[in-house]
Amino acid sequence: MSNLFLAAQTQLDEVAALLHLPPEIHSLLREPMREHVARFPVRMDDDSTRVFTGFRVQYNHALGPCKGGLRFHPEETVDTVRALAAWMTWKTALVDLPLGGGKGGVICNPKQLSEGELERVSRGFIRAIAKYIDDDVDVPAPDVYTNPQVMAWMMDEFATIRGHHRPGVITGKPVHLGGSLGRDDATARGGMYTIREAASNLGLDLSQATAVIQGYGNAGAFAHKLIEQLFGTKVIAISDSRGAIHSADGIDAQAAQEHKDATGSVVGLAGATRVEPEDLLELETDVLIPAALENVIHSGNAERIRAKIVAELANGPTTPEADPILHARGVRVIPDFLCNAGGVTVSYFEQVQNLNLDRWKLEQVHWRLDERMTEAFHTVEEKRQSLNVHPRLAAYAVAVERVARACIDRGWISRSSLARK
Ligand code: NAD
Repeated sequence: MSNLFLAAQTQLDEVAALLHLPPEIHSLLREPMREHVARFPVRMDDDSTRVFTGFRVQYNHALGPCKGGLRFHPEETVDTVRALAAWMTWKTALVDLPLGGGKGGVICNPKQLSEGELERVSRGFIRAIAKYIDDDVDVPAPDVYTNPQVMAWMMDEFATIRGHHRPGVITGKPVHLGGSLGRDDATARGGMYTIREAASNLGLDLSQATAVIQGYGNAGAFAHKLIEQLFGTKVIAISDSRGAIHSADGIDAQAAQEHKDATGSVVGLAGATRVEPEDLLELETDVLIPAALENVIHSGNAERIRAKIVAELANGPTTPEADPILHARGVRVIPDFLCNAGGVTVSYFEQVQNLNLDRWKLEQVHWRLDERMTEAFHTVEEKRQSLNVHPRLAAYAVAVERVARACIDRGWISRSSLARK
């Protein structure tokens, strides 16, 4: 299913049927509650003006202010942003944060923009959506091809518009501007805690295990470093947008990062051989970590995935058609909105620190993150066993039940709908 939003709706439909969700609630949860589309002019370095298009989707705010990343991507579509906003809604509910779900994106290729142009795109987008965000309304954060510098420009633009300091309006800021310690590797670290719990359930010794990682950005590169550091797991293959490499002896995280910093890609690292990017996913390994793009595990290759655990750091890497195939073959999937919830959890910690004018120590961030991720993992595990369904459906069931209950308790949907279902 190539339209990501249709995939997200299909997943919700499945859980709605499983939970016998009243049609009123199902229909409310099936679409975003609010969407903003902005077209904004940006002055380019050659003095020409380009009009950029950006989206901010506020999917559901029953549990609290919307929260979710901003992506800068040349192929961004509103449907991708809708799907990601829906997943943010389930994700914040699943890790029990007092937040709703949102997502945004700007159609642009940051690799083709100068630093000045990137700054003007960032500021231009915030000017376009400033009316619709705030620390108690909707709080953006970094995502694909956006970073703390982009967040700093956006925070500054918002403060200039409002005329007062408002650091909690955006998270993922540089630490000296109110960012949280531990935000840089939070997504990967949170994923590690879920991998640790899944491995323990399966009786898998991670110190003797192998891992394969697709994608070498924030999520993938930190996953490499942390799986080595925390568990001693051997990473045998990695990839980025330029290609994939493999070494049965293991790829050192520091060497790979240094090579990528020097050359722009992991491809060409000494001691590793180049493999086809599609083949990387099908390598025999204990842990497979898709940490790049969506729809990479699908009905065409799910039969050939040989990992014991698929830890979805990326959003939407597995299509709905592939889920039952993986489940039937005994592959344990840690679904995206559980596995990669570490990022939003530490973003939430950042918001809490900003609102309290506080700064937490790194150890404090780590143990609080571990506590939330571990609890969420086991809540999903209990649901998986009680409903006898695959993990994604179980995670959906936990999250959707929480959001549905909030919609009813707020009075958005009548309680009697429960009796009419
Ligand atoms: P990023 O921009 O830092 O990195 C993306 C990486 O994917 C790059 O290394 C790029 O080269 C690689 N890539 C692109 N196309 C590829 C391809 N065809 N094959 C292999 N690699 C390819 O982005 P990120 O922040 O690491 O995000 C990656 C995924 O994780 C996305 O799905 C994102 O939504 C998800 N995610 C990220 C965070 C976060 O905090 N960064 C949080 C939750 C989810």
